[in-house]
Amino acid sequence: MLLWGWPPARGTGRFVAYAMAATLFLARRIMGPMRMLVVEDEAHLAEALRDGLVAEGFAVDLAHDGERGLELARANPYDAIVLDLMLPRRHGYDVCRTLRGEGVWTPVLMLTAKDGEYDHADALDLGVDAYLTKPSPFVVVLATLRALVRRGSLERPVVLRVGPLTLDPAEHRVSCAGSPVQLRPREFALLHYLMRRPGEVVSKSEILANVWDEFYEGDPNIVEVYVSYLRRKLATVTDRPMIETVRGVGYRLSAEGA
Ligand code: CA
Repeated sequence: MLLWGWPPARGTGRFVAYAMAATLFLARRIMGPMRMLVVEDEAHLAEALRDGLVAEGFAVDLAHDGERGLELARANPYDAIVLDLMLPRRHGYDVCRTLRGEGVWTPVLMLTAKDGEYDHADALDLGVDAYLTKPSPFVVVLATLRALVRRGSLERPVVLRVGPLTLDPAEHRVSCAGSPVQLRPREFALLHYLMRRPGEVVSKSEILANVWDEFYEGDPNIVEVYVSYLRRKLATVTDRPMIETVRGVGYRLSAEGA
């Protein structure tokens, strides 16, 4: 007998007990425990992080260099990765860029001593999801990880592609079927928003709140004006009308064209 009352005797009670055990097993598979990877070469910091996360109920793997971190991140379905930047054998940026390039979308929290604004911006552009500088209070690290885990491992490509359109937010570049398209900042922001929701109907008020700002009080028809600017510019490089007007609702950008 492995546990008290287990295995159950026989008959219906036995069936119910097995069904409950199977449900518990499945629930545990679905709900957790959360598994984290910490890639950090400073041994005392790596261990402190691991101990703190284990005390919070996470399962934690450690890697002390970038190469090992990459191997583990490829091989295991982690819920999140804490990644240092200055690492032996492979730089943190390179680890993140490689994972994203291979289609691994595990949320990454970069925890680094580098506190320059360009370091921060570069990390986010390479596909890092959150950035904290050392030393950061453990409660902040933990809260950030929880937020990343809630978001999950959805695909978050750094460069967006919809049909013939490609938009690179970091380089601020748009191309259509390989031809560059010059856009002004607001046109770029509008196309960026539509490309983040391909195939969906997006309302004018959503566009206003996300491309202008939620306190914009000017004429809401500004959206139509910018959609027409965008259509005109895209029409110079493709015959395919990509932005569809859905009467009374909003706009839809689709790979198949309008
Ligand atoms: Ca380091």
